[in-house]
Amino acid sequence: MDFIQYLQTFADTKFMLFFAFVIGSMFGSFFNVCIYRLPEELSVIKPRSFCPSCKKTIPWYYNIPLLSYIFLRGKCAYCGARISFRYFFVELLSAWIFAFGVYRFGPTFKALEFIVLSSIMLILFFTDLDKRILPDEITLGFIPVGLIFAYFSPERTLTESLIVGIAGAGILFLLAYIYLKLKGIEGMGMGDVKMLALMGTFLGKQAFLALMIASVIGTIVGLFIIYVLKKGKNYEIPFGCFLSIASVITYLYGNDIILFYVKHFLKHNWS
Ligand SMILES: [Zn+2]
Repeated sequence: MDFIQYLQTFADTKFMLFFAFVIGSMFGSFFNVCIYRLPEELSVIKPRSFCPSCKKTIPWYYNIPLLSYIFLRGKCAYCGARISFRYFFVELLSAWIFAFGVYRFGPTFKALEFIVLSSIMLILFFTDLDKRILPDEITLGFIPVGLIFAYFSPERTLTESLIVGIAGAGILFLLAYIYLKLKGIEGMGMGDVKMLALMGTFLGKQAFLALMIASVIGTIVGLFIIYVLKKGKNYEIPFGCFLSIASVITYLYGNDIILFYVKHFLKHNWS
């Protein structure tokens, strides 16, 4: 049994999944810091986490991912201020991303790629939802990382990732530009453009599928927000949130979606 096989057997054990879950929740704790601080242009390293209400630094024993929130019942240990459920939720989502990645792909390169991509998308989802900001540190910062993954990936080449990244960003840039000229407002921010370039490096050609999925979900949710929640037509839809969800869906099910489409919609044209 060689080393990789040994690792794969190990991955089948529940311990490995539990381990991934714990590591994921710790990263989730850090992602919370990123979501809160990156849009404000603050350092994600210093200072240490503090209560937004009483400003007291949170010691490590009150900062244990998932557990602290439960034991403190979602309140600051010092001033009793409510801590948003979001912190817990992000830690849980991150833990799930890590455990699911290992569960689905084993302890492989692909699992790491899934975990990195999904983690980035998790951060972008919430910064866009909260502040309508897709920080450059993530979108531009992780393009080289996506290209490194592309270089090693058996499913897409580095050239493909580069071309799709540039072309995808170019198309969105053009749309944003036309929109700006026609309506005089920024319909799609440059953040979305950079995000699509990033998606191109991780998803290759399928980044376009992700863009389509994002547009469909975005349109449905957008109509719901405008006509059911009555937010008004000027409500700015956080398109990055949909790009984020669509990227993870595409990474996991892109091939299945394309196969399904070919089988059910194209078959009559060919026979
Ligand atoms: Zn406090």
